[in-house]
Amino acid sequence: MAWDFETDAAYQELLDWADAFVRDEVEPLDLVLGDPYDKSDPRFAALVRPLQEEVRKRGLWACHLGPDLGGQGYGQVKLALLNEILGRSRYAPSVFGCQAPDSGNAEILAHFGSAGQKERYLAPLLDGAISSSYSMTEPHAGADPTLFTTRAVRDGDGWVINGEKWFSSNARHAAFLIVMAVTNPDVSAYQGMSMFIVPAGAPGLEIVRNVGVGGEREGSHGYLRYTDVRVPAENLLGEEGGAFAIAQTRLGGGRIHHAMRTIAQVRKAFDMMCERAVSRETRRGPLARLQLTQEKIADSWIEIEQFRLLVLRTAWLIDKHRDYKRVRKDIAAVKAAMPKVMHDVVQRAMHLHGALGVSNEMPFAAMLMGAQALAIADGPTEVHKITVARQLLRDREPVPGLWPSGHLPTRREAARARYAEALERAVGDQ
Ligand SMILES: Cc1cc2nc3c(=O)[nH]c(=O)nc-3n(C[C@H](O)[C@H](O)[C@H](O)COP(=O)(O)OP(=O)(O)OC[C@H]3O[C@@H](n4cnc5c(N)ncnc54)[C@H](O)[C@@H]3O)c2cc1C
Repeated sequence: MAWDFETDAAYQELLDWADAFVRDEVEPLDLVLGDPYDKSDPRFAALVRPLQEEVRKRGLWACHLGPDLGGQGYGQVKLALLNEILGRSRYAPSVFGCQAPDSGNAEILAHFGSAGQKERYLAPLLDGAISSSYSMTEPHAGADPTLFTTRAVRDGDGWVINGEKWFSSNARHAAFLIVMAVTNPDVSAYQGMSMFIVPAGAPGLEIVRNVGVGGEREGSHGYLRYTDVRVPAENLLGEEGGAFAIAQTRLGGGRIHHAMRTIAQVRKAFDMMCERAVSRETRRGPLARLQLTQEKIADSWIEIEQFRLLVLRTAWLIDKHRDYKRVRKDIAAVKAAMPKVMHDVVQRAMHLHGALGVSNEMPFAAMLMGAQALAIADGPTEVHKITVARQLLRDREPVPGLWPSGHLPTRREAARARYAEALERAVGDQ
């Protein structure tokens, strides 16, 4: 019977190494360096590249990818166990070669890219030499991609793209963007949209502005305008009309990877909450002695553990089925649970820190905004809950009669009828 919560000893050793490495070598970088996607920053080469080399030597570079793509083929469960360490730090995913959105973009290039696209875009992306962006959401529509209007029209040996995209993360540092556009407006959006690779700096591609989240001083989410942007025919990614299938592959992986890193963020908040509880003194002793503080700690731990188990089980299902479609409900459930657990735990940790908690001297305000962003990026919570509910209800049949199948008098009557003879015999024997 295979039902096991243990991590194998050899991998646990690697995780222990990663845990110490991230704490001692990587987390401090978050406090001194700028955007991890800015590969042109000379400080990146000086401080990050040597750490990436260390990770490569340990065999943990892009470890979820197969050996053909430069990884170990460890799969999603092992990636989850690693990501719940890496998620503590802004820089760690880049140091370990599994940062979003590059990891998702790499995944679709590996799945759907031509040999030429793999050589030109995937290889340097996997090597960590360049950054990429995913350009799908539009200013007037996000959760419902069937409303997108950015258009790509075939023109001679190429395609010409026109339209606007919104919140294309890291567009300003990207060497290329993967763009979703309508190629056939006469059929359903599910068959009429395609994906294109647009190199950065293509004539007609303009960053209108870089939008920030919350109080960010510098934004990293591109508001982009495509005006007669011409790409050669070979920049079509996958089949013409195949954008939805590609997007599902990309977002399936992206959502679970965010969830793995969220475990790390939530644990970080939880650790700060526990530290505060045992450190802050009141007249009656430390906060930890107050029952309402204890409730916050107990609730937080229970919610984190529940979420972690859901994430790990979903990762295990992905490894088992190797088909995101079969795990759609589970990924949607993880996606819907993620912002809530993050919000609730961070809010409690913030609250226990009093004024310091809401100040700009602690990370909680940014974490709380992060939770809100998690509820929207890759689709709002409502949409994912709808997916979960629809799938759960798909095979349910209506009850044939008036009463529900759990109606006690009906069930009792049926049980009595079934055992009538035996019951009568038992009474008669007394
Ligand atoms: C931090 C961050 C990073 C992002 N990065 C990228 C990126 O790299 N590339 C990219 O293309 N996009 C990116 N996005 C955009 C993201 O995918 C969209 O914001 C998301 O799909 C929601 O679209 P929207 O913002 O247009 O909201 P809308 O679609 O307008 O939805 C707004 C609200 O309406 C409600 N709603 C919408 N539809 C439904 C429904 N069917 N049922 C019930 N309620 C509904 C929900 O409350 C929802 O929050 C990013 C977003 C964030 C916050």
